[in-house]
Amino acid sequence: MGLDKSGLQERIFEVPSLTNERLYLFLWNMETNVSRWSQNAVEDFELPGEYIYDVAPIWMERIYPADLPAFKKVHEAIWEKGDKKQEFEYRIKNKDGKYVLCTSKVLVLCGEGGEPNLFTGTIINHDIQDNIDPITNLHGSSSFHMNLKRVVEKGSRAAVMKIAVNMFNQFNVLYGHEYGNEVLRELSDILRMFALNKGHLYRLDGAKFALIFPDMEEEEEVRALYNKIKYAAEHTVTINHVAVPLTVSGSGMMLDEYKGTDIAVKSGLSYALGISKHERRGELVFYKEEGSGKDTTQLQMLGDIHRSISKGCEGFYLCYQPLVDVKTEKIVGAEALVRWKKEPYGDVAPGRFISWLETDPAFYELGKWIIKTALADIREVKKEFPDFILNVNIAASQLERKEFRGDVIRMVKEAEFPPEDFFMELTERCRNLDYDFLREEMKFFHENGLKLSLDDFGTGSSSLALLRELPIDELKIDMSFIRDIETNTINQSLVKNIVQTAKEMGLKTCLEGVESQGISRYLKHHNATYYQGYYYSRPVQIENFRDMLADGQEGE
Ligand code: C2E
Ligand code: MG
Ligand code: MG
Repeated sequence: MGLDKSGLQERIFEVPSLTNERLYLFLWNMETNVSRWSQNAVEDFELPGEYIYDVAPIWMERIYPADLPAFKKVHEAIWEKGDKKQEFEYRIKNKDGKYVLCTSKVLVLCGEGGEPNLFTGTIINHDIQDNIDPITNLHGSSSFHMNLKRVVEKGSRAAVMKIAVNMFNQFNVLYGHEYGNEVLRELSDILRMFALNKGHLYRLDGAKFALIFPDMEEEEEVRALYNKIKYAAEHTVTINHVAVPLTVSGSGMMLDEYKGTDIAVKSGLSYALGISKHERRGELVFYKEEGSGKDTTQLQMLGDIHRSISKGCEGFYLCYQPLVDVKTEKIVGAEALVRWKKEPYGDVAPGRFISWLETDPAFYELGKWIIKTALADIREVKKEFPDFILNVNIAASQLERKEFRGDVIRMVKEAEFPPEDFFMELTERCRNLDYDFLREEMKFFHENGLKLSLDDFGTGSSSLALLRELPIDELKIDMSFIRDIETNTINQSLVKNIVQTAKEMGLKTCLEGVESQGISRYLKHHNATYYQGYYYSRPVQIENFRDMLADGQEGE
C-alpha cells in the first residue's frame, strides 16, 4: 500500500509566506499560460490574485524600465531557446510604489514526454530584512506586524499578548547598557520556553515583547500562561548569580471574532498595557475589558478621532501646564498638551489616543496643528512676558517626515516666534529612531536656533550616554522617578546623579510630576532648572493660563 499523501500538496504555496517573508514562489504552466503565486507575492506586488492568466505583461509592467531589456533576454533564453536554469537580478515596483531589488532563480521542468511544460522559480526580495533582533535573536517588530496583519486579515483564531518590563531603564542607567542587554537575553530565554510549541515570540522596541498564539481560544488559558510567565520573569532572572528585581506588565487580546484592523489591535494592546502597568500592578489586562467591556465604544472612538483630524482637527484643543523656575517658583514657560473632546466620550486625555495615533499617517496633520496653535497662543503671552518659553511634544513619526524640517522652520517664522524660546520635546519613541538619523535631524533644528529637550528621561532605553552625543538643551526627568522621591532611595540617588550630570554638561533640567509641597521642598537642593507638576497647576486652557499668569504678576 502506498503512503497516504493527502494534505501534502495543496498547501505548499502557503509555506514561503509563513516561514520567510522575503521569499516568493511561483509555478507557471507553459501550456495553459496560467501561473500560481505565493500569497506574499500577491500582497507585496498587488498581483490580481494567486492564479493569474498571462502574467508576463503584468509582471513586466512593474519592472524598473532600465532593467527590462535584460529581464526580457533571460526570459527569451528560457522560453524560446530552452535554457533550463537562470539566476538574475532586477528591480521591481512593490505595492507602495518603491522599486525593490530582487533575485530570481528560475528553471524549466519538462513533462513526461521530455517537452518543457512548467516554468518555476523563487524570488528573493532584498528590501525585506530578516528582522532578527541582534540582542535576543528573536524576530523583531516588523515580523510581528507582518504576522499580526496576516492573522487579522485571515480572521484566524488566535490570542496576542504584549509584555513589558517596568522601569527597565533603571538597569541601563544604573549598570550600563550591557547589563540591560543581558537582562533582555535572560528574559527572552524564559519567554522562549513558554512560547515553545504554542506560539510565536517577538521582541518589540525597548524592553517589550509580543506573543501570538494561534488557536488559543480561552481567555483563562491566556491568563494562566501570563501568570506563569510573570512569575518566572520576576523570580528567576539572575545575572552573575544575583537575582534581578524585575517586574512586568502585560496586555492581551483575543482575535477569534475580531473584525477590526491590525493597527487597532496594536493600539489596543498598548492601551491595555498602560492600564496593567499604572492601575493593575502588572496584572494581565485584556483590551476589550476596557471602557467597561464596551469594546466597540473604544474602537469607535479611535475611528471618530480619525474623522476629527480629517475635518481640520475639529474637537482638538490644547492645554498648557506651567514650567516653574525652581529658584523663584515663578512661571517662566509652558508645555502644550493636546486634548480631544467629543460627545459621547467627553474630554479625552492623550494617554488614550496618542500612542497609537502617533504612528498613524493622519497624525502629521494634527502635529502641525498643535505646533501652529501653541506658537500663536504663546506669542500673545510673550507680549507681556518676553522671555516666556514654549515646550511642544514631538513624535517620532513627525521627525521621520521629510517635510517636517521645512514645516517647523516655516511655522516658527510665520508666528514671529524667537526660535531660542521654542523647545521641541522628543518623547521616548523618538530615541528608538535610527541613531544617525536622529542626530542629523536634531543637528538641523539646533543649527537653526531651536531648542531640543529629551522628554520622559529615564524611561525606555534612554541613557546618560545619549547626552554626550546629541545636541540637547534640556532634560525632562520622568515623573515615575519623582512621585515617590521622598521615600524611594533608588530614585533619590538616580535623580540626584542625573541632574548633576546634566548640569555638568550645561543642560537645563525639568523635574516632572511635582505633586506636593513636600516633593518640591525635597528637590530644591538638587538645583534643577524647572519644576512641572500638579502642585503648581494641572494643564489648563489658554484663557485660564493667562489668568493664572496675571494673578502671579499681581502677587509680586
Ligand atoms: P508628557 O509630555 O511627559 O507630559 C506630561 C504629562 O504629565 C501630562 O499628561 C501632564 O498632565 C502630566 N502631569 C504633569 N504633572 C503631573 C503631576 O504632578 N502628576 C501627574 N500624575 N501627572 C502630571 P497628559 O497631558 O495626559 O499627556 C500625556 C502624554 O501624552 C505626554 O507626556 C506626551 O508624551 C503625550 N502628549 C501630550 N500632548 C502631546 C502632543 O501634543 N503631541 C505629542 N506627540 N504627544 C503629546
Ligand atoms: Mg512632554
Ligand atoms: Mg514627560
